[in-house]
Amino acid sequence: LGGSISRAIQQMSNATIIDEKALNDCLNEITRALLQSDVQFKLVRDMQTNIKKIVNLDDLAAGHNKRKIIQQKGKPSVVMFVGLQGSGKTTTCTKYAYYHQKKGWKPALVCADTFRAGAFDQLKQNATKAKIPFYGSYMESDPVKISVEGVERFKKENCDLIIVDTSGRHKQEVALFEEMRQVAEATKPDLVIFVMDSSIGQAAFDQAQAFKQSVAVGAVIVTKMDGHAKGGGALSAVAATKSPVIFIGTGEHMDEFEVFDVKPFVSRLLGMGDWSGFMDKIQEVVPMDQQPELLQKLSEGNFTLRIMYEQFQNLLKMGPIGQVFSMLPGFSSELMPKGREKESQAKIKRYMTMMDSMTNEELDSSNPKLMNESRIMRIARGSGRSVRDVMEMLEEYKRLAKIWSKMKGLKIPKKGEMSAL
Ligand code: GDP
Ligand code: MG
Repeated sequence: LGGSISRAIQQMSNATIIDEKALNDCLNEITRALLQSDVQFKLVRDMQTNIKKIVNLDDLAAGHNKRKIIQQKGKPSVVMFVGLQGSGKTTTCTKYAYYHQKKGWKPALVCADTFRAGAFDQLKQNATKAKIPFYGSYMESDPVKISVEGVERFKKENCDLIIVDTSGRHKQEVALFEEMRQVAEATKPDLVIFVMDSSIGQAAFDQAQAFKQSVAVGAVIVTKMDGHAKGGGALSAVAATKSPVIFIGTGEHMDEFEVFDVKPFVSRLLGMGDWSGFMDKIQEVVPMDQQPELLQKLSEGNFTLRIMYEQFQNLLKMGPIGQVFSMLPGFSSELMPKGREKESQAKIKRYMTMMDSMTNEELDSSNPKLMNESRIMRIARGSGRSVRDVMEMLEEYKRLAKIWSKMKGLKIPKKGEMSAL
């Protein structure tokens, strides 16, 4: 998939004249990828139409209509978090507070979730860890009363970022939305943030829209981007709330929180791999002593079968490899389909067995013509696999080599500079 998208875009950028057909071909490839990433059909269709309009209007002024989010240090503002139960609100509230605290804000957390048992304890624990003042009650069952009390208290204490964590339900229920409406009315939030789990997929549009209808959602945060889901639903949430994604959650810990950046998000969505994230992750995947060597080889543009073999080895050593795998260019969508890790691991092992029957010359060559019929047959015999299996492995190699060839010309950090990657 990633390969075909890159190819489509490549073809398009190589074309001297971008005609209707070139554009359509490219858009069709992208559409396919988006649909497979849980982006809503209607949205993809709208996007297609919009892109065509934009391409036709060549004098279109690039106008940004994204609303500025107005919060000012030193001036009390109230931020209310909404979303279904389990979406990550409480965790994200603390991350958001912690993030701003480090930037000099004075945040505070208010627990208006009286629905879930233990909600206050969870917020209290998080807040204590981050040294952020908090407010809540074990006795009071009225979320409106608690949130008003909390907001008033922290305004008096000169907190400038008062964060109200609300309850969720497993489902979208009338009672939940009524509660959200009441809390919002009482606390008059400057910003309402809709929190969504990256894996909700197609349900994102309806869910986000339902919240937007009861409270004035102004921003979206997508959580659990460290998992398999590509977060295509986020685009639906953006469309439903007409609000930007501002942060993403990338883990359970307080500092696993990033300002949303559209480029890696879209390339991950399209299956092209997240290059910047990949560069961060390479340190975890590749043993320290092999890193400079690997990067050197890649920067020379030589993705040999031996490099593929070594990468497979590294990946298998890591055990449950979901997170890093999804970051590796080319390794995610085709080689490691979602939910089929066991099979994929078996496949990788099979590839490695066949590569064990290869000569050094074959492993170290980056000349695709070297692998002729007699060599393929010898490898098949040597590894006890079929010619077809060997061909499949070589196809996989070609696919990865093509993707990884983009690493060519990469700036290589000197030894000891790895952390600055
Ligand atoms: P709430 O019900 O909306 O308040 O959700 P919680 O904040 O209690 O989160 C539900 C679960 O999701 C918890 O186990 C969190 O640790 C987990 N969680 C939240 N955000 C992330 C994230 O970005 N990545 C991962 N892996 N887990 C997360
Ligand atoms: Mg919660």
